[in-house]
Amino acid sequence: MNTFPRRIALLGSTGSIGRQTLDVVRRFPNQFRVVALAARSNVELLAQQVQEFKPSLVTCFADTPGVEEKARELLPGVVIGEQGLLEVATHPEADVVVAATSGLRGLKPTLAAIGAGKTIALANKETLVMAGHLVMQAAQRAGVPVLPIDSEHSAIWQCLRGEESTDIQRLLLTASGGPFRHTSLEALQSVTVEQALAHPTWRMGPKITIDSATLMNKGLEVLEARWLFDVDYEHIDVVVHPESIIHSMVEFVDGSIKMQASLPSMHLPIMNALAYPQRLHNTDSDFIRELRWSDVGHLNFEDLDRERFPCFRLALEAGKKGGTYPCALVGADEEAVELFLSGALDFLGIARLIEEVLERHQSIEQPDVTMILEACAWARKTARELSKRRTSHSN
Ligand code: MG
Repeated sequence: MNTFPRRIALLGSTGSIGRQTLDVVRRFPNQFRVVALAARSNVELLAQQVQEFKPSLVTCFADTPGVEEKARELLPGVVIGEQGLLEVATHPEADVVVAATSGLRGLKPTLAAIGAGKTIALANKETLVMAGHLVMQAAQRAGVPVLPIDSEHSAIWQCLRGEESTDIQRLLLTASGGPFRHTSLEALQSVTVEQALAHPTWRMGPKITIDSATLMNKGLEVLEARWLFDVDYEHIDVVVHPESIIHSMVEFVDGSIKMQASLPSMHLPIMNALAYPQRLHNTDSDFIRELRWSDVGHLNFEDLDRERFPCFRLALEAGKKGGTYPCALVGADEEAVELFLSGALDFLGIARLIEEVLERHQSIEQPDVTMILEACAWARKTARELSKRRTSHSN
């Protein structure tokens, strides 16, 4: 797949990564063409995107009341529901499928896209966290590349180009540390939703922003890296780097370390995945800002405090245990973050609730797609029940 234009099917076109993917297409109109778009519920924005990019297929998941009617009105010929996601993922004209839906919804379409021989540009973490064994096996069998759209994994992937996997000593993911990097455990008890949503270096959707504040996001990224690069947990580490300039590193067996740097930008990982193995020539300094080292001055690194950020520990434990533990982790976290955002749970309660759910989980080894989704749904339900019970006790 070395020729342009590349034809893109985009799952999750109205989310943060989806919109930035379309920014890239807009900047490089000769290199990319959008052939299919899928969004969940933001019908107005989806209609604008359709008008601008003229895809041959548009679909809307429409899982909230009133969305389907609006979608049918604004988007003639729209396909509704899960069927739409699968049609976008396997669209006959598409070369690359960008999987940028959030949460569980990415799993089946990603597997379908692999089955249809599409190159996968993967922004959805949950897919690999829950089903890394299925996805990577299927991709290998189909000879389909799975390319990361996540700044850390894109960095590692770039560092590994031209290297032998047997020469890897350690993958080192960098973490900004989030808004509570230096907040004491005591003060963490009373942080507000607004404080948790104010990420110092990255602008993202609410779920991933809260996951970044609890460092669950970094935990999920370690699990993701384990599958993407086939490196075991003993050889993956995390270092806190608040400036988010070094996006990750790879240490090799001879002691040499490669790292990848840029000012924080999701456009770059997207460009890398979409243009691979080529690089796009950026001439717009507003789009990708130039990194001036003398302006940066200092880069800082520190250890991650696992005690103040128990979500990181929980993610790693779930990853190491394997089976459906990571699925239960994802489900419990989704529910806990929603409860926190709605004010029903305090910040430290997120980790406590997830831990309680994981303690009750009966894991299944080598789960298939149904078992994966069931484990996740079980965890959501259990988290909801546990939190209700706790609220009624305290009243
Ligand atoms: Mg990341």
